[in-house]
Amino acid sequence: MYQTPLHGVNILTLDFLLIFMICLFVKIKRHLSFGALRQAFSSILEQVSDHRENSKVEYSIHNVLMSAFAMMYFQDSSLLEFQKKMETGCRQNNLRTLFKVDSIPKDNQMRNVLDEVDTKEIEPIFDEYFYRLQRGKYLELYRFMDNSYLVSMDGSGYFGSDKICCPGCLRKEDKKGNVSYSHQIMQAVLMHPDMKQIIPLTPEEIRNTDGDKKQDCEISAGKRLITKIRKAHPKLKMIIVADSLHSKQPFIEHAKAKGMSYILAAKEGDHKLLMEWVNEQRLLKEVSRIEVKDHKGRTHVYEWINKVLLNGNKETVWVNYFEYWIMDGGRVAYHNSWVTDMEIHEDNVEKLVKGGRCRWKIENEAFNVLKNHGYHIDHNFGHGNKHLSMNFFLLNLLAFFFHQIFELSDVLYRQCREKFGSKRNLWEHLRVLVATIIFPDWETFLSYLLKPPEIYAHSILSP
Ligand SMILES: [Zn+2]
Repeated sequence: MYQTPLHGVNILTLDFLLIFMICLFVKIKRHLSFGALRQAFSSILEQVSDHRENSKVEYSIHNVLMSAFAMMYFQDSSLLEFQKKMETGCRQNNLRTLFKVDSIPKDNQMRNVLDEVDTKEIEPIFDEYFYRLQRGKYLELYRFMDNSYLVSMDGSGYFGSDKICCPGCLRKEDKKGNVSYSHQIMQAVLMHPDMKQIIPLTPEEIRNTDGDKKQDCEISAGKRLITKIRKAHPKLKMIIVADSLHSKQPFIEHAKAKGMSYILAAKEGDHKLLMEWVNEQRLLKEVSRIEVKDHKGRTHVYEWINKVLLNGNKETVWVNYFEYWIMDGGRVAYHNSWVTDMEIHEDNVEKLVKGGRCRWKIENEAFNVLKNHGYHIDHNFGHGNKHLSMNFFLLNLLAFFFHQIFELSDVLYRQCREKFGSKRNLWEHLRVLVATIIFPDWETFLSYLLKPPEIYAHSILSP
């Protein structure tokens, strides 16, 4: 038993008091706790169609998908193997205690089952977690302007090969006749310039359908994604932020038809007529301009003009245009231009620029993190013939979503992040622990990591 040198108070008592208070807090945010999120996912997995013959079913869809998710959650491809060893030695394992998997599938069985599961059946979990964040008032942190939220959209690839392919692969042939295959998605995330965490929305696959010779593309998938987002969030006021590929009439008309505003990059090469018109108006002094000096001595230049034609089409759309430069000692340190449907004036132009510039977050905080900082989304876990590749991607994105929710709402997780500095360091420790000790729940797991193990050793399930 440990004693404090000053007061002779039992440390164990104090620590349990602390844990009790933490648990009380966790209870307030119960619908966002690991257990509640896992339970919601289990409920969806239990509804997934199972087309296998009953006599041949060894592992339930729930156990297979949840095992694959656990692998992504810990980013550990050897997780299942270690948990099986634990099960053999201790008749208990962390997949059962944490993820409610009562029978762990073998690798090849898991891949076979995952390939058959239609990704659309597991997608609703993204909306469910979004609603939970909304209910927990976390969405309010993301309100941008006029009660609207910024939704950044972009396309990205998560698989590429010149040998492995499936019927859903996008096919590309170069001039020499070399064929390459890829899997791509259109992703949308809710974001805010001042928030580090992003909230991923359900992705849309850029995918070829059987028998269709025409290749699917980012613009078509982007329009499907807009429809999907609006269906899931019929009343949410949204501003779509995307690159110059999307500042085209069909996309703008589609976004407006779905009741969304937009801030879309507009590059000179894509918008010749628009830019010529803006330059003419500039010469006529019809373009508004303000300059703002910052504390580093740089000059921020904002120019804008409302009501310009997007292109030369007969039935063109009217847009509002703004441009922005950062001048640093006579050198252009940054430059970009956008079109929007929101009327621009002196009071909102800086904010609109902030919104437009915020687009980098989907590349940096989402795709870059998913590819290079711990999530390995472009690792080939297995390709399959139907849905395997996309299902692995989706489970990876879901693991990322869990971790984003914890960063926003889980006090224990945030304390652990603080203790271990980087996310990478924290998860290295979590991976070691999950392979060696059996924990009854996620909170005990994090508490164990946070405090010296000897104090809590007795509260861990003994082998
Ligand atoms: Zn494929």
